Amino acid sequence: MREPIIKGGQGGDAPEPNRNTNLHREEGRPVDQMDEKLRPQTLAEVVGQRSVAERLSIALEASKKRGEPLPHILFDGPPGLGKTTFATVLHNELGVELNMTSGPALDKKMDVMPYLTNAVEGSILFIDEIHRLPKTVEEFIYPVMEDFRVDVVLGEGIAARTINLPLKKFTIIGATTRSGMLSGPLRDRFHMHEHLEFYDVDDLARIVAINAEKLRTTITPDAAWELARRSRGTPRLANARLRWVRDYATARADGHIVLSIARDALDMQEVDAEGMDKQDRRYLETLIQVFRGGPSGAEALAATMNLAIDTLTDEVEPYLLRRHFIVRTPRGRRATPAAYRHLNLPEPVSDTDLFPFDEQRRLFE
Ligand code: ADP
Repeated sequence: MREPIIKGGQGGDAPEPNRNTNLHREEGRPVDQMDEKLRPQTLAEVVGQRSVAERLSIALEASKKRGEPLPHILFDGPPGLGKTTFATVLHNELGVELNMTSGPALDKKMDVMPYLTNAVEGSILFIDEIHRLPKTVEEFIYPVMEDFRVDVVLGEGIAARTINLPLKKFTIIGATTRSGMLSGPLRDRFHMHEHLEFYDVDDLARIVAINAEKLRTTITPDAAWELARRSRGTPRLANARLRWVRDYATARADGHIVLSIARDALDMQEVDAEGMDKQDRRYLETLIQVFRGGPSGAEALAATMNLAIDTLTDEVEPYLLRRHFIVRTPRGRRATPAAYRHLNLPEPVSDTDLFPFDEQRRLFE
């Protein structure tokens, strides 16, 4: 599960790339500081997500022309697809200060207060995992997002009074892997909602080729494509796999990444031809072999796999859903025939075989 250790620094006026960001986080999947070096710094460097990038460039242009802060923006989508990257890029493009925090780090109103009162005109406050903001903090920032003011209660009981503290006009950028968990009032206070999709193989291959250069290594186009194809549509994973393949090429060959090296390195890491790793396969095996293909609730699956439920729902399932290896029904997750084929398991012949629990349930209905 992603742990929110995201710090923001103090900024000046010059748009030095990434000056105010100092990120480190864990997500269950391999992540390290090196990721920061590979992060695009300008909108032109961003690969893929074209329609999102286009809308953001319009918002940027308008904000620059009017001399006003950007509108509040909400990014949602699975981990590693570029939510933090877009926030970083917007701050670089505008040359404004960026402060970073996350929902779980803002436990109390007083935790968020310094971010609000220290925010300079036009700056950006990035709140990762915003769906995990406690309700009291969430309500506290409503007037911030609407009118750039906080309401502070001084004193207690009959002597209590509320004072309105005006703030500078700044932008809140929220990121979430679970937009469904966001309350309606919070969601409505964001002026732009941008959903990030998994990347197609061509875009990921471009990212791999660009990042190979940043890592001062060489890769053939077919090896870059192979790596992209086996990275679950996720740039962060493509970066992690690229680094592994680079190490493998250095240790086992002359450092140049060719197709056979990429294939061998990924095979050794137990990443299969579809880009699924051990955890993905364990999920499908559990669903098929323990729960007989489902339907199964996420809690039961997570408990059986001894995995945090957030890791299961935020990191493992989205790509399996996207690849149609599983479907979500009101009764829980079900494996599709494609999942059986992928694991080389005999496919159930009838719907009753595929979904036996449904049949049992029908007996009692
Ligand atoms: P998220 O915040 O959604 O979890 P990040 O923005 O941290 O994901 O992205 C993880 C890494 O993937 C970045 O450090 C960057 O190297 C790479 N990346 C993400 N989106 C893009 C993109 N559109 N173009 C190029 N690289 C990207």
